[in-house]
Amino acid sequence: MVCFCFLVDQTRKVKRSKPAAGTCSRCGGGASVADMMTQTRFCFVPFYWKNWKAIICTFCGAMLKSYR
Ligand SMILES: [Zn+2]
Repeated sequence: MVCFCFLVDQTRKVKRSKPAAGTCSRCGGGASVADMMTQTRFCFVPFYWKNWKAIICTFCGAMLKSYR
């Protein structure tokens, strides 16, 4: 998900993921445990990173659970 504001924007990336038990409640696709990274940029210069984990759907990309 990319959110553009006037000068500050934030990008969320999946660094890597591996299959996990469970299925997506929206599409029934397989769930996976993902290492996520949120990067906040100011004038296109990254100044803040945050690493976190989440359970996401590999098919539709829905976030099923997050561990912040
Ligand atoms: Zn899904």
